[in-house]
Amino acid sequence: MADPKGFLKSGREGAARRPVEERVQDWNEVYPGSVGRALLPIINTQASRCMDCGIPFCHQGCPLGNIIPEWNDLVWRDDWSGAIERLHATNNFPEFTGRLCPAPCETACVLGINQDPVTIKNIEVAIIDKAWESGLVTPQPPEWLSGRTVAVVGSGPAGLATAQQLTRAGHTVAVYERADQIGGLMRYGIPEFKMEKKYLDQRLEQMKREGTVFRPGVDVGGQITGAALRERYDAVVLAVGSTTPRDLPVPGRELQGIHQAMDFLPQANRVARGETVEDQITAEGKHVVIIGGGDTGADCLGTSTRQGALSVTQLEIMPLPPEVRPAAQPWPTYPMTFKVSSAHEEGGERLYSVSTTEFLGDAEGRVRALKLVEVRFEDGKLIQVEGTEHEIMADLVLFAMGFVGPEKPGLVEQLGVELDARGNIVRDASFATTVPGVYVAGDAGRGQSLIVWAIAEGRSAASAVDRYLTGDSALPSPIKPTDRPLTV
Ligand SMILES: Cc1cc2nc3c(=O)[nH]c(=O)nc-3n(C[C@H](O)[C@H](O)[C@H](O)COP(=O)(O)OP(=O)(O)OC[C@H]3O[C@@H](n4cnc5c(N)ncnc54)[C@H](O)[C@@H]3O)c2cc1C
Ligand code: SF4
Repeated sequence: MADPKGFLKSGREGAARRPVEERVQDWNEVYPGSVGRALLPIINTQASRCMDCGIPFCHQGCPLGNIIPEWNDLVWRDDWSGAIERLHATNNFPEFTGRLCPAPCETACVLGINQDPVTIKNIEVAIIDKAWESGLVTPQPPEWLSGRTVAVVGSGPAGLATAQQLTRAGHTVAVYERADQIGGLMRYGIPEFKMEKKYLDQRLEQMKREGTVFRPGVDVGGQITGAALRERYDAVVLAVGSTTPRDLPVPGRELQGIHQAMDFLPQANRVARGETVEDQITAEGKHVVIIGGGDTGADCLGTSTRQGALSVTQLEIMPLPPEVRPAAQPWPTYPMTFKVSSAHEEGGERLYSVSTTEFLGDAEGRVRALKLVEVRFEDGKLIQVEGTEHEIMADLVLFAMGFVGPEKPGLVEQLGVELDARGNIVRDASFATTVPGVYVAGDAGRGQSLIVWAIAEGRSAASAVDRYLTGDSALPSPIKPTDRPLTV
């Protein structure tokens, strides 16, 4: 156990972010240098706050089952090599989760019952950043090759975790990605200011050295058919994400200046990395309205701020959440509370309990305003409040209302995998689809979710595929095949 009195002596402390006026001038992460390095002066004390509980609820809170108290103790003892070994045992990519995870482990931390929880996510990123800087992260190529081949379609966190696990188990793995670069939403969705792409690139380099083959710029279902893939490989894993965005088909939807977030963010990410994008959708000099209050909306906000928007308003149909855990969402569940992301610190206004009923245009067919109405939920039904109709100005509208499953035309239709009622790919408790030898991992089967879940699913699917190919598997499966069927 770390210091038995640590939580009595020290309070919770995080890394200081760069001043707002400085960070909105660039695309770099909001912390000075690497967040892990910025945390080093305080992280030992923060790790000492872990009580090494008899039943560590943080394990259950983390979808990967990260062995949190063990690495807290090792950090406190200054054993960074032991800490990264323990962290990598359950998480292929702690540099992604340590930056991007909403940390359900922390809302399950026992200390959080009556104090501020341990800064688990910060300790995680401090361990991995220090490990990379100290040369402790090295390729782990397999000792022998199985002679079996696997195609992974999609290179987001689910595809990458699947590929790394299967490559290390000795299978020959090719990752297909239709975008020109590998990384899924971590490459072109999530902005630099949340995670600089150099962290993705250094991990991809490790994977290449282990033997994983990357094939970017290949649209499977177009350039290669699903049937050809099944014929060429012993197993196929669909990690194609949930890429169909939810739309808002109200009058005026056809006006110019109304875009999906995933048309806007990838362009901004490219420009932030030095590319030129013709006819870029930009917030510069515009009044921006973002419809949707989640992670994607916050990313649109931070990006619009950096591009020089005149104003940014984020609309949310749900009511303003409470600042503290509501009684109906008791510890150790993940509560829906009011959150202030780094993008929210930088500006913008948030409106809650509002719904858009119409987009209004100017004479040239460009959006100029939104018609809004206040709403409330009554008996689970959304009711418009009479007399609350009003307009707000907008010359750029961004939809960040979530995703409704993988795209159906192309690969999904070609393979003939069954879909569930929500449009996601049906899988059994072993991540197998209804087509023999074809597995699914991440948002494509789970529905729109989180990076930590995508990695957990990738690791679990890899274990199932390994068993399918060899009859047995020593690969860990954080989501156990004996768990209830995943389609329920
Ligand atoms: C803007 C945004 C911000 C987010 N921020 C966070 C965050 O801060 N923290 C967090 O935990 N989660 C966040 N999420 C959610 C998270 O990114 C996803 O849950 C996660 O990336 C899902 O991983 P995945 O591997 O299943 O799919 P994806 O990351 O979506 O990757 C799927 C890949 O498959 C490729 N593909 C699809 N079809 C084909 C085909 N036919 N052939 C070849 N390639 C194909 C796609 O191009 C894509 O690159 C965010 C999501 C968005 C949209
Ligand atoms: S991956 Fe997420 S839930 Fe798991 S320990 Fe890290 S921050 Fe917590």
